[in-house]
Parts: sequence; C-alpha cells; structure tokens
Amino acid sequence: MPTPRVCQISDDTFGGFEVVIDLDYFYTLDEISAFIKTTLINSLKRVHLEVLVNNAKNKKLHIHDKNFCQLRNMNADDILYVCGHC
Ligand SMILES: [Zn+2]
Repeated sequence: MPTPRVCQISDDTFGGFEVVIDLDYFYTLDEISAFIKTTLINSLKRVHLEVLVNNAKNKKLHIHDKNFCQLRNMNADDILYVCGHC
C-alpha cells in the first residue's frame, strides 16, 4: 500500500513548491531532499526558467528535526517541510 507524504519546500524563492512522494520508495531523508530538488529543477526546465534552474541547482535542500521513523508516523495530510533557508 502506498504511503503518500506531502513535501513542501520552505525557502525564500521556491517556498510553496509541493510534491507528493510515496515514502515506500525512499530509505533516507537525503534521498527525499534530492528527489524534491530534482523535481523542482525539472519543473523549472520544462518552462524554460534557466536563471531559476541555476538558483535551484545551488540549493542545499534538507529536512530538519525529523528522522525517517517519524515520517512513517506522520498523517497523510501533514506537510513535510524541506528547508532551503540554511
Ligand atoms: Zn534548514
């Protein structure tokens, strides 16, 4: 059974960008952050926003204060924030 999680970027430029992932396909928080970043970059490329693509490539997206076990215990409609601020 899929384990959907709503991931949303928290960042000055890309804040609000949202992707629903299936937690069953991930093993680490870094994998999730990398997937969100790739999805963001591909979305920006699709609409030819090259300056923003370069900006996104330089972002170090990460997940704060949570371990993988806590992600499994979240509710499906909770938002998992992926930080791009620090
Ligand atoms: Zn941060």
